[in-house]
Amino acid sequence: MLASSPECRHIIQSIIDHLPCGVTLFDQNLEMIACNGLFRRLLDFPDQLFEGSLPSMKSLAMFNARRGEYGPGDPEELAGQVVQRAMAMKPHQFERVRPDGTILEISGQPLPSGGFITLYTDITERREAEEPLRDKEGLLRLIFDNSSVAIFTIDSSGRIGAANQRMAEMFMIQSESLIGMEYVDLVDPVEQETARKNMADHLVQDRANVNLERHYWRSNGTAFWGQLTARHMPAYKDGRAGLVCVVSDITERKIAEQHLAERSHELEILNLELTKAVEALAASNAELVAAREELEQLAQHDNLTGTWSRRRIEESAQQEMLRKTRYGHPVSLIFIDLDHFKRVNDGHGHAAGDEVLKTFCDIAQKCMRSTDLLGRWGGEEFVIVTPNSGLMIAILLAERIRKAIMAYEFQGIGHVTASFGVAECREDETWESWLCRSDAALYAAKEGGRNRVITDACGADEADEAELLDLAFLRLVWRSTYESGHALLDTQHRNLFEHANNLLTAVIGERPTDEVAPQIEALVADLLDHFRDEEAVFRSIGYSGADEHALTHKGLIDRAGELVANFTSGELALGDLFNFLAYDVVAKHMLSEDRKFFGQIQVIRDTAG
Ligand code: GH3
Ligand code: MG
Ligand code: MG
Repeated sequence: MLASSPECRHIIQSIIDHLPCGVTLFDQNLEMIACNGLFRRLLDFPDQLFEGSLPSMKSLAMFNARRGEYGPGDPEELAGQVVQRAMAMKPHQFERVRPDGTILEISGQPLPSGGFITLYTDITERREAEEPLRDKEGLLRLIFDNSSVAIFTIDSSGRIGAANQRMAEMFMIQSESLIGMEYVDLVDPVEQETARKNMADHLVQDRANVNLERHYWRSNGTAFWGQLTARHMPAYKDGRAGLVCVVSDITERKIAEQHLAERSHELEILNLELTKAVEALAASNAELVAAREELEQLAQHDNLTGTWSRRRIEESAQQEMLRKTRYGHPVSLIFIDLDHFKRVNDGHGHAAGDEVLKTFCDIAQKCMRSTDLLGRWGGEEFVIVTPNSGLMIAILLAERIRKAIMAYEFQGIGHVTASFGVAECREDETWESWLCRSDAALYAAKEGGRNRVITDACGADEADEAELLDLAFLRLVWRSTYESGHALLDTQHRNLFEHANNLLTAVIGERPTDEVAPQIEALVADLLDHFRDEEAVFRSIGYSGADEHALTHKGLIDRAGELVANFTSGELALGDLFNFLAYDVVAKHMLSEDRKFFGQIQVIRDTAG
């Protein structure tokens, strides 16, 4: 019928030629009635195929199968399948990807009068445009379905609109049951009100993402901690806002945090206890230190007078003895006992006696040099150790104290005196022996009538020294026995004695250095002259010990130079310089060494006479 009228065919042909897709018309015998040029171009058919008469479905299918239009396989079979499908005369629509990659959408429609019409549209460009979108959608779907966090949406009425598989697992509710559930029903009842309010606020206004921790309940009654992130969607459904939410299970983290908090709390308590313990320890340690210091103080000091204890004095004396052994520094000891002290106690009471003891110490200390050490030996007995001091200096110190005590008027008591025993430590002497000698001297002072200074009289030297020094006037006393009979030497000796006495006056008067310096200079100059003259004399008489004696002179001169320099620079006290110049050189040397050749001078004089 369609084919029967050429006029109709013509109309149909002109219609399909103007359609924007490829068109074929087949009759019920699958003979082609018409097709347009676009169909031939789309399928790339050669013109010969359409020359003379239009091709049948079978020949077209065969042509296509052969050129690989239907993919690999037996062309007969492939073409047969196409023809079979066409013969079914059912509407169909499918896409075919051509060997050159173009995509055709092919849709066939049976015609009411038999046969069918097929439309061919090139959808290659459309598909290409759709590709990324499909990819994106697929990706999102993939994420949604396989996510390890729960993803769901909430509509404007607070109900769940969509939920992924993980959400169903997390809340232990079937996916289908979740849809339409009220979101707040998933929240711990304690937090439901807050959650509802938050959600309502967030649905109304598009604010920044909500990010918070929530305690959720599962359908089986268990609970878990979730980290919720929610985002506002302005037009989610029916033009109304919704929320898209993500929940991750943070229970393990919360438990760990709780443990950590508990642990840190425990640690805080422990730390507090430790701090307290350390404080207590520090306090008791401070107490211990204080107690030890008190004990040491007690051990080192005498309670009543504050002077050194007997133990400390012994220690110091022994140290000084070592210094003497090592460096030759002289050291002396003064033993002191208050006279008739019992009477003070008996007459004025023990407390008054105590005051006298204390005052005695104050007075003594004012007379001493800073290096001298005063200690209480016991009762009313005291000891002074005088480092760097020969006997002479110690005697002078004792004398100074004796005079000061004697001069002092004790309130309500009157005058009190003391007796002093002085001894210089000898070479290789024991502490006991040295102490014994000073004690013996003290005993002698008591025996001699008290209120006096006595040196140890056991050795010949000390006897000479005692003889040499007139303590009452504090002068070196020249005696006729010191004379050699040689006029020049005796004059020089006397002159030097006078120098020494001047120096002693300066020591006692505590004269300033610049005033004493010229005096010392004159003494040293006279000493040098004297040594030179003396050496000439004993060489002229052929004295056998001449060389040795000259050597002693040299030693004394060297030492004098050294000590004078120390004195001038302020390192040496005048008392110590005096001890050397006046005592060691002038008095002692003249009294021991010089006397050795005195005899020879006399022998020569005798023989000469
Ligand atoms: P002497 O001149 O012979 O030393 O006579 P003395 O009375 O001082 O000697 P004695 O040894 O007979 O007496 C010492 C007295 O010193 C006896 C004792 O009561 C007193 N005494 C000892 N220690 C203390 C003290 O700490 N405080 C007081 N007030 N008196 C003391
Ligand atoms: Mg006594
Ligand atoms: Mg006494």
